[in-house]
Amino acid sequence: MAGATMDKIVSLCKRRGFLFKGSELYGGLQGTWDYGPMGVELKNNVKRVWWSANVYERDDMEGLDSAILMNRKVLKYSGHEATFSDPMVDCRKCKKRFRADHMDAKEKCASGGQHDLTDPRPFNLMFKTTVGPVEDEENIAYLRPETAQGIFVNFKNVIDSTNRKLPFGIAQIGKAYRNEITPRNFIFRVREFEQMEIEYFVMPGTDEESHERWIEARVAWYHKYGIRPDNLRKYVVTGDELAHYSKATTDLMYRFFPEREEEDRQFEEVEGIANRTDFDLAGHTKGGKTRFTDGTFLTNEHAVKKQTYLDTKTNQHLIPYVIEPSGGVDRITLAFLMDSYEEQTLEGGKKRTVLHLHPDLSPVKVAVIPLARNKPDLVEMGKRIKRDLQAAGRLRSLFDDSGNIGKCYARQDEIGTPFCVTVDHQSLEDQQVTVRHRDSMAQDRIAVDSPDEYLQERLR
Ligand SMILES: [Zn+2]
Repeated sequence: MAGATMDKIVSLCKRRGFLFKGSELYGGLQGTWDYGPMGVELKNNVKRVWWSANVYERDDMEGLDSAILMNRKVLKYSGHEATFSDPMVDCRKCKKRFRADHMDAKEKCASGGQHDLTDPRPFNLMFKTTVGPVEDEENIAYLRPETAQGIFVNFKNVIDSTNRKLPFGIAQIGKAYRNEITPRNFIFRVREFEQMEIEYFVMPGTDEESHERWIEARVAWYHKYGIRPDNLRKYVVTGDELAHYSKATTDLMYRFFPEREEEDRQFEEVEGIANRTDFDLAGHTKGGKTRFTDGTFLTNEHAVKKQTYLDTKTNQHLIPYVIEPSGGVDRITLAFLMDSYEEQTLEGGKKRTVLHLHPDLSPVKVAVIPLARNKPDLVEMGKRIKRDLQAAGRLRSLFDDSGNIGKCYARQDEIGTPFCVTVDHQSLEDQQVTVRHRDSMAQDRIAVDSPDEYLQERLR
């Protein structure tokens, strides 16, 4: 039995239609990926179970879907325009540009010998564009570098339209863009990505307790959907690594690089859970202040209203603290792919690769397979079963007559389909089909008219 490495996942994703290189037909566009037929289903399922857990199954959450393009002032007062940058160095010989903190000291220059590097300079990671027909300074806008700012600038709108009282949170899923200097490691570091973010607003003084509760809730979510506890670690960020707006941050680290020798280096961030205090709302409010690392601040002269909260107990206006669980959809999807991947050697030496995905995440829940594709009676019966499952509307099902039965099983195992329903010659006589279970490969005979019921029961 063997587990995943990044290389094996990349290969499976291409082979089975989870992910393709962005713009591959034209040689690609670095840092972009396209989700294929299986990938879009898996990613949608990841988002659906996240939204369910964090919005529908709680009493204290609202959802939001804010615009990707935002008034430039949003990113001025969030501090991004001034400080959202990575240190960059240029080589004077080969003219290549690198992220200073990602340099490999052993790497040789393409022009021979060592690189001849400039001092590090800040490189702003935001994609710039212009809004409207005139391309001048006045009309500059950015593609949002995170979904969070869309939540902060709508805080007052949400309060006023829902009458929410603290504590409550706002959840958002959406695309974000960062012009990474060195995108790499498949969908781990990319330029266009998707985030699932929560801003949870609390009374100052209750923030530490709330932070702890969110850390535990998020860990439990990963475990529930199949991430093995061994492969998920909590990392408490301290010292210089802690962002200046954060009072405390715990990163959830997933074992994305099991092939690395040193165990600590196998883990990289999959989600960050930060106590951002009142930093964001204090910046995005009329007359408020955006604080910078060096102790300077920017007074807000542009916001048209105050974003404060009226505490009805004391009749005081205050700025809530905020806890932010923030995860990357692409990284989380990758973690589920890696964690569910297994290469098995079966009795007799046969090998199979299987994704043991949680059924809620599986792109396809059931594949209907006729034992022979040149027997019209079998094909017709298979198609009817598929249509019935589809009509029941609860299970994404697929009719698969792409090869012999062994090939169909192999394909469904590799995309993580929990059940295969096989129609054979016997089925025409006794109106029963064979259900094959992905993980155990056990087979049951069940009546043709009840597959939906049978499968639903076992998917719970
Ligand atoms: Zn060089």
